[in-house]
Amino acid sequence: MERHVTERVITSLTNDTVKSVRALHMRKERETTGRFLAEGLKFIGEALDQGRSPKLLMVGLEARPHAILDRAITATLRDGGEVVTVTHPILEKISRRDNPQTVLGVFDQVYTPLANIRPSSAPAWVALEQVRDPGNLGTIIRTADAAGCGGVILIGDCVDPYSVEAVRATMGSVFAVAIARATAAEFLAWRQTWPGNVVGTRLDAAVGYRDASIQSPALILMGNEQAGLTDTLAAACDVNVKIPMRGRADSLNLAIATGVMVYAVTDAS
Ligand code: SAM
Repeated sequence: MERHVTERVITSLTNDTVKSVRALHMRKERETTGRFLAEGLKFIGEALDQGRSPKLLMVGLEARPHAILDRAITATLRDGGEVVTVTHPILEKISRRDNPQTVLGVFDQVYTPLANIRPSSAPAWVALEQVRDPGNLGTIIRTADAAGCGGVILIGDCVDPYSVEAVRATMGSVFAVAIARATAAEFLAWRQTWPGNVVGTRLDAAVGYRDASIQSPALILMGNEQAGLTDTLAAACDVNVKIPMRGRADSLNLAIATGVMVYAVTDAS
C-alpha cells in the first residue's frame, strides 16, 4: 500500500508523537492544540465525506487494506498531514483500551460561530444548557444528525464535545452537524433573531410536546441533567413543553428526551 512508501514507523511507547496524541484525552491539551482524536475507519470515513482530513493518521501494523484507509492516506498527505505506522501496544496506550481501533485520526476541532448559523437550512436545531455528561452529548449529536437537525448549540459551561468519550458516542456524526457554543447572554441575544419557534422542555410545562403548534425552523432547548432548563432560558422560549411521564420515573434521560423532541418536530415539519 501507498503508506509504506511515505510513513514513518513508531514502535516506542515513549515517542513524543504518541505522548501528544494520548494527551488529547485531556481537555487542557485539546484546548491548547485545538485538536481531537477520532478512532476507527467509520469516523475517518465520515470526516473524509465532509471534506475533513486528519492532521495525523496513525495506522496500526495489523490494519487491513481498505478503501477508506487508502482515501484517508491520500487525503492526509495531500492536505499536508502526516501518516505514521504504529504498533498494537501504542494503539492500546493511546486509546486506553485492550481492543483498540487499528486506525486513528487527529483532527482540527471546528466550532460554527452563532452568526454563521443559517436556521432555515434545517427544520430543527438543538440547544443544550450546561450538558455535563459526554455520553449524553455525543448521543445527542448523533441523534440530531439522524433526525435531520442542523446542529447543536452548547450554552454555558458544557462538557467538551471533542472529548474522546463524547466523540465515540457520536459514531461519526461529530463531523456531520454544526457545533456552536455560547454564553447564556450571547445565546439570549442571538435567540432574538431566530425566525421560527424556540421550544423549551420542562417537567413543569403545561403544554404536551405533541400539542404545541411549532413553526419551523424549531430551536429546541434542553436543560442540564440535574437542574433542568433554567428559568432564564425557559422564559426566553416561545413555548415550553413536557413529554408525559406515565410511570414512576420523574424524568427522561437528557439524550432520550432530546430524541423524542427532535423526531416529534422534524416529523411534523
Ligand atoms: N431534575 C431535572 C428537572 O427538574 O428538570 C431533570 C432534568 S432531565 C434529566 C434533563 C433534561 O431532559 C430536562 O432539562 C429536559 O430538557 C429534558 N427532559 C427530561 N424529561 C423530560 C420530560 N418529561 N419533558 C420534557 N423535558 C424533559
